[in-house]
Amino acid sequence: MSIKSNIKELLNSIPPAIKLVAVSKTRPVGDILDAYHCGQRIFAENKAQEMAIKYDQLPKDIEWHMIGHLQTNKVKFIAPFIGLIHSVDSLKLLEVINKEALKNRRIIKYLFQIHIAKEEAKFGLSFSELEAILNSSEFQSLSNVCLVGLMGMATFTHDEDIIRSEFLVIKNYFDLIKQKYFSNELSFCELSIGMSSDYKIAIETGSTLVRIGTSIFGIR
Ligand SMILES: *Cc1c(COP(=O)(O)O)cnc(C)c1O
Repeated sequence: MSIKSNIKELLNSIPPAIKLVAVSKTRPVGDILDAYHCGQRIFAENKAQEMAIKYDQLPKDIEWHMIGHLQTNKVKFIAPFIGLIHSVDSLKLLEVINKEALKNRRIIKYLFQIHIAKEEAKFGLSFSELEAILNSSEFQSLSNVCLVGLMGMATFTHDEDIIRSEFLVIKNYFDLIKQKYFSNELSFCELSIGMSSDYKIAIETGSTLVRIGTSIFGIR
């Protein structure tokens, strides 16, 4: 299968209201251009410097998303152009993003990454950690970042019931947080759950952004 036919098939099977995020980490710019020429405009990377290099080499109407764990000292590489950071997992990181956004005279959009999987190794905040941040005065004083929703990764398993139940946990929590803190803010509207192996379940459980690499570009 070619990148072109993979993209077309995905776009046909994903409802139009859901955004396809093409995960291009480790892929050469030629592969990204193949997807670009099929109309794909959102691409995601998990390393800041790799993204910055690709940004320089590729058309400027691409919207770049960061999906990997982001270190504070790497924020500066992507702050001038990043479209959405999915993986904010601490107040400290968010404060650095705010500072770099200010320097670039931008408002940077982001999601809080929530830990929903059984594996310890995955990054993300617990629900109580998230609420502690939302209630802090530091959070409320940030001027150049805009929270648009939540992101989560399910446990790496073939058991669809486990995946569905984890996605439902974050979806229910998303609804609760929206009601409690952002009921008047239309911008809090995105739920980033779902990868190649589980995006159909993610869409059934309310995903608005699906992050797909392997099903577009092949095995890494
Ligand atoms: C690599 C990655 C993806 C894409 O995974 P595929 O299985 O290749 O679709 C999605 N989300 C995150 C956070 C990733 O690191």
